[in-house]
Amino acid sequence: MTTAPGTSPSRPANGPERATNAAGGTRQRTLRTADDLADAGLIAPGDAAIAARVARRYAVAVPVALADAVRNDASGALRRQFVPAGDELVIARDELEDPIGDAAHSPVKGIVHRYPDRVLLKPLHACAVYCRFCFRREQVGPGGDALTAAETAAALAYIRGNPGIWEVILSGGDPLLLAPRRLKALVAEIAAIGHVGVIRVHTRLPVADPARITPALTRALRCSKAVYVVLHCNHAAELTPAATAAAARLIDAGIPLLAQSVLLRGVNDDAETLEALLRALVARRIKPYYLHHPDRARGTGHFRLPLAAGQAILRRLRGRLSGIAQPTYVLDIPGGHGKVPVGPEYLRLGAADGEWTVTDPAGRSYAYTDKA
Ligand code: SF4
Repeated sequence: MTTAPGTSPSRPANGPERATNAAGGTRQRTLRTADDLADAGLIAPGDAAIAARVARRYAVAVPVALADAVRNDASGALRRQFVPAGDELVIARDELEDPIGDAAHSPVKGIVHRYPDRVLLKPLHACAVYCRFCFRREQVGPGGDALTAAETAAALAYIRGNPGIWEVILSGGDPLLLAPRRLKALVAEIAAIGHVGVIRVHTRLPVADPARITPALTRALRCSKAVYVVLHCNHAAELTPAATAAAARLIDAGIPLLAQSVLLRGVNDDAETLEALLRALVARRIKPYYLHHPDRARGTGHFRLPLAAGQAILRRLRGRLSGIAQPTYVLDIPGGHGKVPVGPEYLRLGAADGEWTVTDPAGRSYAYTDKA
């Protein structure tokens, strides 16, 4: 029997983090308080009090490298994603603590088994940056509730005991915050399970703190099974030269990169902004995979837009953007009922069996029959 790796984060998840600079001194690596954000010029001093109230409710972290990108982004899209705002204290009645129903599908701690052929394995709930719209914002935060060695062993035993599991998705939190040797041990344990064919890793780290994508980390993902990394990225301004280089280190190590994005009001909810993002991803060898409609997480109403508005944006993109840059627009049905594509639809059944109406990207309709 193999030993389960422990999965504590690679560094203290709370308290000051410092990095050595070129001159041998240290500088703060992550901004974690309203005062940090004000000192760094990310919020006006007059907004520090409300930011502090938000920070008492939801975790705040902005790595210094990302803070530079926030300051340089004239669109304000990065600020809106990463800097706390008073709107987060407005909770709508239909917002949920667990909007995609992870808990209802968690047979053992750290595992979410919603679909027959795949599971989520969440080794920790800490992230390098805390996105203000996060669907797991009630679970993630400093400390990260990392699985203990015994809990990790139980989660791996569950995967071993369910031969229908073909894909293991490391999620969290950000699994790439694990120390490389711990990540390597965990990946090796999963890869050793005969019926597991694919390991997928969901991360924001190449955008949030690109310097953490080290050669040791990329080596930790090497194993006997196919490994895919899915980068969470919502705006082209996140793809700084450093983030681009971090993504390239993963790709050049032989790891295919996909991207998932969230459609967010005030961030990327127009066709031009999304087009710029999707083209920027593909040009960096990152294949857009999912575009998520925002979940009904508490205090995130200011990020949501109507589904019909999302469909209209996707319809505009269909006609003018390469097929390899098209993500699937999806909604996680609240309550844990799964993820489904939500259009736009181009095909409607006509009056008779086999009679269809097809709509082209410009909105013109055509009759189509599939009768032999
Ligand atoms: S990186 Fe992912 S899990 Fe972490 S705060 Fe952002 S959306 Fe949530």
